[in-house]
Amino acid sequence: MGRTGMGRPLPNPAAETRSFWEGCSEGELRYQTCEACGVVQITPRSVCSHCQSALLAWKRSSAVGTVLSFTTVHRAPTEAFRAMAPYTIVMVDMNEGFRLMVNCDRALLPTLAIGGRVRIGFEDVDGMKLPHAQALS
Ligand SMILES: [Zn+2]
Repeated sequence: MGRTGMGRPLPNPAAETRSFWEGCSEGELRYQTCEACGVVQITPRSVCSHCQSALLAWKRSSAVGTVLSFTTVHRAPTEAFRAMAPYTIVMVDMNEGFRLMVNCDRALLPTLAIGGRVRIGFEDVDGMKLPHAQALS
């Protein structure tokens, strides 16, 4: 995570995640698959976690998934996040088989539950679009 000014820390896209963040900026959720063995990577990497092939491709996700777990952070780890606390982080198992850890849209909080279905939307933070979990409908 990098920092911009006094704001909230923003992701600093590495080579493995650049396409993911480019997708976000276009309002599109992307995930990585292996062209060699067809496996869906749970998290983006430079090689396939199953067969070590570097023939990776990005696909567009339906952006719908199931809540695996969530936690509310009351004491933020760094000063920049402290202004945001309390905030809720949600782990979502996406329909295509990859996994995301994202912030929770406040409107979703009252109905947030493990096993609940959510949609990944995007919120504008300091000019960057960040994925977050929101109500399905
Ligand atoms: Zn593979």
